[in-house]
Amino acid sequence: MSTPSTASTPSTASTPPAASTRRAAALDAADPLARFREQFLPARGVVAYLDGNSLGRPPAGTAERLDRFVREEWAGRLIRGWTDEGPDGAWMGWPEQVGDRIAAAALGAAPGQTVLADSTTVLLYKLARAAVDAGIAAGRDEIVVDTDNFPTDRYVLEGIAAERGATLRWIATDPAAGVTPEQVAAVVGPRTALVLASHVAYRSGWIADAMTITALTHDAGALVLWDLSHSVGSVELQLDAWGVDLAVGCTYKYLNGGPGSPAFGYVRSDRQEGLRQPIQGWMGRRDPFEMGRGYTPAAGVRGIVSGTPPVLAAVPLLCGLDMLEEAGIAAVRAKSMALTAFTLDIVDERLAPLGVELVSPRDPARRGGHLTIRRSGSRDVLDELWARGVIPDFREPDDIRIGLAPLSTSFAEVDRGLAVLHDVLDARR
Ligand SMILES: *Cc1c(COP(=O)(O)O)cnc(C)c1O
Repeated sequence: MSTPSTASTPSTASTPPAASTRRAAALDAADPLARFREQFLPARGVVAYLDGNSLGRPPAGTAERLDRFVREEWAGRLIRGWTDEGPDGAWMGWPEQVGDRIAAAALGAAPGQTVLADSTTVLLYKLARAAVDAGIAAGRDEIVVDTDNFPTDRYVLEGIAAERGATLRWIATDPAAGVTPEQVAAVVGPRTALVLASHVAYRSGWIADAMTITALTHDAGALVLWDLSHSVGSVELQLDAWGVDLAVGCTYKYLNGGPGSPAFGYVRSDRQEGLRQPIQGWMGRRDPFEMGRGYTPAAGVRGIVSGTPPVLAAVPLLCGLDMLEEAGIAAVRAKSMALTAFTLDIVDERLAPLGVELVSPRDPARRGGHLTIRRSGSRDVLDELWARGVIPDFREPDDIRIGLAPLSTSFAEVDRGLAVLHDVLDARR
């Protein structure tokens, strides 16, 4: 993304209509999660941060917790930290321990099925490869994915298809919506090894019907892998109840884990035995410190770990999880729906007359935590928005994503930010 220029800052401040300001104030006053906003570090000069779906803001406790970790845990315990129980447990156990916390707080998953490891891209590769390998062994050589899935998901699968001689079956999705059960039903069959989809589409915010798509995939005898990057910490998930086989997601979006924080992977307990991920490292081996010959995967979900756990990089995530556990995902989702509904009204009333089009679902049940709007020439207004302290997200070709992180975003902030967007667009008419 380009650096904002400071050249074109207009002198007049943007003021939202009084009725909108009153409505925002009333919604903030009634917001049961309002107290969490104070628990994030402030950003100087930022009027509205509308990109919490790309990089969540830092919880205020993060700085102190990192400092304490470095001084007391790293400096104090040194290498003993890997195996001796400390305040946050032995570091060696963090993949499962933090994974279980994510599972309980956000995934609707019982313990023993989730680990923290790698990046989303790498975990996606490992789990997709494991599923495709199992499929190929059973005479299944097709991978289903949609054309508007997140780039890394498409690239990883293209790589796996080339590596294993598998065929990609592309579903052409509507970029203003996302993958549907009908589309999946039309392409799965006896040759399908794996269906990969994003639960919340990164572009439109469309929530896929994960339960139905999972069932359809199973009916065809294939495995499903859900990318939860835009879902986790924003919408409610029921991985166990839905019968999901595999899932991955990132922790630096709605979980506030910080830039490049590790990813998580989920493997349903009864799939753990039959799947073999391709990066056999010592940390996913049974008895890693035996340093023995040959690789035997560790029992359970630990087998998807490859190398040394990213302990330091996981420290901020502990603060994000503390907050989510306290708030509860149901309350987070309720506020998320209220934030997107409020935003949608402003888009309809004030931005649509300026040529702005909504490219997200209107149905609240199908709408995730962000809204995307489109107007030709959107890219040109980004610098000015950034210079005026309004930070949304941009996606080619003309899409502005308005990310609404329920724990850190107020209705007044949205109101002020969209007033600036309105004025910037209005001035360019
Ligand atoms: C953000 C995101 C990723 C990120 O992958 P990284 O390996 O962390 O860069 C992957 N998939 C989806 C759907 C995302 O939204």
